[in-house]
Amino acid sequence: MSTCPRCGKQIQEDDKFCGFCGFNLTIEQSTSSFTQQELKVSDIRLNLGMVYLKQGKYKLALENFKKVLAQDPNHPMAGQMIEQVQTAMEM
Ligand SMILES: [Zn+2]
Repeated sequence: MSTCPRCGKQIQEDDKFCGFCGFNLTIEQSTSSFTQQELKVSDIRLNLGMVYLKQGKYKLALENFKKVLAQDPNHPMAGQMIEQVQTAMEM
């Protein structure tokens, strides 16, 4: 048995996905640093959201920021960005 790097629950060694949080366990195996990979995925989404925000595509921006937050509830930027989009949408 080993533990899921995201939710910390016990998983089977040969599982491809965590049965609890759905995390793709094959990503961890192919990289030396799980945290770097995890950060990259949410940062790509965050950057994409920022691009949409700049383009005035607020709904798409919001979608991306919400995905970041769903994946990483403690993401330092995602919450701020959602507030920023919501403020922009009201203007
Ligand atoms: Zn998990």
